[in-house]
Amino acid sequence: MVDIRNIVILTGAGISAESGIGTFRDAGGLWEQHRVEDVATPEAFARNPDLVLRFYDMRRENIQSAQPNAAHWSLAHLDATWPGELTIITQNVDDLHERAGARRLIHMHGEHLSAWCMACDARNEWRSTLLDRPPCPDCGQPALRPDIVWFGEMPYRMDEIEAALRCCDLFVSIGTSGAVYPAAGYVQTARYYGARTLELNLEPSQGSVFFHESRMGKAGDLVPQWVEEILA
Ligand code: NAD
Repeated sequence: MVDIRNIVILTGAGISAESGIGTFRDAGGLWEQHRVEDVATPEAFARNPDLVLRFYDMRRENIQSAQPNAAHWSLAHLDATWPGELTIITQNVDDLHERAGARRLIHMHGEHLSAWCMACDARNEWRSTLLDRPPCPDCGQPALRPDIVWFGEMPYRMDEIEAALRCCDLFVSIGTSGAVYPAAGYVQTARYYGARTLELNLEPSQGSVFFHESRMGKAGDLVPQWVEEILA
């Protein structure tokens, strides 16, 4: 194996599937019950804020009763022990990576447990509902929205992500369908800068051809195996 020092890991909804959190695109996934245009765009929020707030209130409640699975635990172990650079970029808005103990983590699509005030721009940890229009803890205005990056909005911490992709030796994609950009393009960016690329997914993602290696199976099985391998 080539000398690996810097690792970038991209995770998607598939890593949380075995924790009981629904994915977006699989049969029975979130989008089957709601059209993306109805709940995950700024236009939807302007048009029908109650529908959008209720949807995210339910998701926020659900994730708090879910538990990290073997894949989250083993990535957290890798994070704690890997001596080189390591960045876990998650598209997930649940908090299962950090509850398992991951520290070098970027939530590029926001977080369910955060509320963003449209009046004063403050972000606060948030565990209860937003439908009842609670006041912002900072400015008192009833102007809180889910701190989620909706379709048509710019993902967070793009500069850090780009920098990590430029200097990684290994890029690993876990449980993502490769349908949502810019994350879907990270495999090509990492390859362009010379990284080896590995996909761990239940089925080939849309960008599967761009990976040097693909392993198919459940994240709860594949991720602990891979972590053991890389630490050996
Ligand atoms: P996606 O639903 O499009 O794709 C999920 C992928 O995971 C699929 O390719 C599927 O084959 C795979 N998968 C399903 N079960 C798996 C398992 N047990 N092990 C390994 N792989 C498995 O989700 P995505 O690619 O993350 O992209 C869409 C958007 O979904 C993201 O923007 C993300 O914010 C959002 N999302 C987040 C959560 C969450 O926070 N947990 C949940 C649903 C959706």
